Amino acid sequence: MSSTPVDNDAQSKKVLDVVIVGSGPAGHTAAIYLARAELSPVMYEGMLANGIAAGGQLTTTTEVENFPGFPEAIGGSELMDRMRAQSVRFGTDIRTETISKVDLSSRPFKLWPQFAEDDDPILCKTLVISTGATAKRMHLPGEDQYWQNGISACAVCDGALPLFRNKPLAVIGGGDSACEEATYLTKYASEVYVLVRRDELRASTIMQKRLLNHPKCKVLFNTVATEAKGDGEVLTALRTKDTKSGEEKDLEVNGLFYAIGHIPATSIVEGQLDMWEDGYIKTKPGTTQTSVHGVFAAGDVQDKVYRQAVTSAGTGCQAALEAERLLAEEEEA
Ligand code: FAD
Ligand code: NDP
Repeated sequence: MSSTPVDNDAQSKKVLDVVIVGSGPAGHTAAIYLARAELSPVMYEGMLANGIAAGGQLTTTTEVENFPGFPEAIGGSELMDRMRAQSVRFGTDIRTETISKVDLSSRPFKLWPQFAEDDDPILCKTLVISTGATAKRMHLPGEDQYWQNGISACAVCDGALPLFRNKPLAVIGGGDSACEEATYLTKYASEVYVLVRRDELRASTIMQKRLLNHPKCKVLFNTVATEAKGDGEVLTALRTKDTKSGEEKDLEVNGLFYAIGHIPATSIVEGQLDMWEDGYIKTKPGTTQTSVHGVFAAGDVQDKVYRQAVTSAGTGCQAALEAERLLAEEEEA
């Protein structure tokens, strides 16, 4: 972690203690903790930032069955509305704007909302980046019609839905996620086809073995999907193509799960924070501290493995406690 220079010119302007960018479970959990700690957090929730409504990825799904505290399940949008209400209840100042630029080269940090009328940046002592990620999709013909009606990008989230029970399902991808999602889906599916575009898997050896040895999984190498087909309401088949022979056929499946990677929403901090090759923000192990002192990253934007609402909320809590501790230490010094 590098020490961050202090911008003396900015000292005379109003400096916020903490700003949160992003409004999914990570951002709102950070907001709840920071507001209860009386640090008057300001949250930029985004205005369709990264193509997603304020509230984040869960606003794009129906039932959330694995967030603790909701034994009967809860709608994704309702869950996020409730988190937002909880943030507001304790005094979070939520601004429906997208942050389009940040300058993390000195403290206080500078942030520019997208349609701000002047060039004056927002200044803050600490910053929580919780801008999330989006699952990659192929946008096949028919995909828009059957998205969330047989097509998903999260087996753990949607695999248990009645729509998929005892039905043949397909996973596209050849990495660890594809292996994990396919083996997970065997709990519910009658069989799981894994469509791999090359003649080999990219996944780690152990994950490959688990997949290849599973009696319910069938790996279709050199196979790509070209169309999502259905009965007008739900997915019933995929048109597939063998990339070697060129042969095309319909594969009857009632579910398609994408596992072809995610894109973290990190463009605003690119070149300013240390990141992994695939764009996820690097954090110091066991913490949410980034390479810049005073900047914390929480949720999917720094997590390429778990990517769940509850893990995002957990790291949002961590980021808030770490920001609070830093501010207290600096107050005392
Ligand atoms: P996100 O939810 O990704 O939210 C980030 C927010 O920040 C977005 O609203 C975005 O617009 C905003 N933002 C981005 N950039 C900016 C910017 N520059 N300025 C301002 N705002 C910005 N997980 C589960 O645990 N259970 C489930 O059942 C489940 N179902 C899912 C179903 C679907 C269809 C999907 C896509 C995901 C599902 N997940 C589920 C995963 C879960 O939604 C994510 O793990 C979680 O939402 C990540 O939270 P986050 O706070 O990191 O960010
Ligand atoms: P990866 O980038 O590792 O794999 C993506 C896979 O999707 C590749 O096989 C790729 O094919 C394929 N793919 C990409 N685009 C397309 C497309 N348009 N059409 C068809 N196939 C496509 O992503 P993962 O999400 O699997 O993993 C991300 C990271 O998370 C990795 O570091 C992984 O190790 C880690 N992880 C670890 C887990 C664990 O250890 N339990 C579980 C899940 C993830 P190709 O190979 O041809 O490029």
